[in-house]
Amino acid sequence: MAEVFNWQLNRMMQYPYEESRPIRQAAAIFDTNKCIGCQTCTLACKTCWTSGNGQEYMLWNNVETKPWGSYPLAWDVRELELLGPQHWDGDTYGGKTIFEAAPQGERNIAWKPTDMDYSYPNRGEDEVNVTLTSKRYHLKLPHDMWFFYLPRVCNHCTYAACLQGCPRQSIYKRPEDGIVLLDQERCRGYRVCFEACPYKKVFYNHTTRVSEKCVFCFPAVEQGIQPRCMRNCIGKIRSFGFLSRPGEEREDNPIDFLVHIRKVGKPLYPQFGLEPNVYYIPPIHVDSNAFLTMLFGPGCLDSIEAYKKAMNGEDNELLAVLLLAVSTDQIIHRFQLKGQTVEAWNEKGDKVVSMPLKVPTVERTPYDPDLNVYRYNIT
Ligand code: SF4
Ligand code: SF4
Repeated sequence: MAEVFNWQLNRMMQYPYEESRPIRQAAAIFDTNKCIGCQTCTLACKTCWTSGNGQEYMLWNNVETKPWGSYPLAWDVRELELLGPQHWDGDTYGGKTIFEAAPQGERNIAWKPTDMDYSYPNRGEDEVNVTLTSKRYHLKLPHDMWFFYLPRVCNHCTYAACLQGCPRQSIYKRPEDGIVLLDQERCRGYRVCFEACPYKKVFYNHTTRVSEKCVFCFPAVEQGIQPRCMRNCIGKIRSFGFLSRPGEEREDNPIDFLVHIRKVGKPLYPQFGLEPNVYYIPPIHVDSNAFLTMLFGPGCLDSIEAYKKAMNGEDNELLAVLLLAVSTDQIIHRFQLKGQTVEAWNEKGDKVVSMPLKVPTVERTPYDPDLNVYRYNIT
């Protein structure tokens, strides 16, 4: 085992391969406060990548309702049970990762789903955390009765468990953008990756007898276009771009800004130790700090406060970056807030977004003397 630095754990950890970071890491940030659970992202991916034989059960992108939803069934509960109780010392992880907790002779702790575990993709959908009672007459913030949507794709992890588990080295991480790909020509269907990934984002195709996974729409990314699930997001919750290496963050890069500067984007289950590269803005209405901390790590409460400031008009720069989500099909490399307008540029330096922070409202009198007409006012 090599000693590598995991910035999400704020410490060195053990991993089978030496630390080798891509030049820049393809990454995404999902704002859980805006997700409406419409599953458009799920279908955008499904119709593009997994509509063939043997792919029927595959959802490279899925959206779960937390706290009860999961696909495959109870994937996170089962992984957490195997890992056992762990702890954080402030912002440093004091527990064991799935690599460090591995039994003698194994590379990481893991559970293997059965076909039945994929039978209920919408289990727990729209179910609240507690039993509904007639005594709940009003809402307060945070809510004591809550749920939220958690969209999930492969995290294109820095320390990918699928990659280190593969005995054929069929899985690799691209040095140019950190996208984790599976070479189906090399794959022999041993399914070690399928078992090793704690997020359960590798799928086995019983027809072709090889494994498959999310490819972050790399053909689009190579053209400067965002992946399909991001472009089609109805709630405009998804920011996609490139995360710089630790210590090389740029304030004008929207992804760096959200993850490293304002620190509102938090990884999912950082304690697993994979340094996942899909980040989440935690929900502000959930009345369970323990649950949120378990999912997103100890910094999630500060993230919620920072997010509230942007929504209250106390941090226009953060608001500007949040508004850039799904404002263009192109990958944004740089942004700038000029007064009340946010502008953004692609990698070639073309301006691709120019947008006011607030859409101006125009009040019109009902009677228009120029046209001699009355207009309906819709309120
Ligand atoms: S989420 Fe799973 S499949 Fe994706 S890179 Fe990480 S370990 Fe591999
Ligand atoms: S398309 Fe966007 S809003 Fe709809 S479920 Fe997916 S992530 Fe949520």
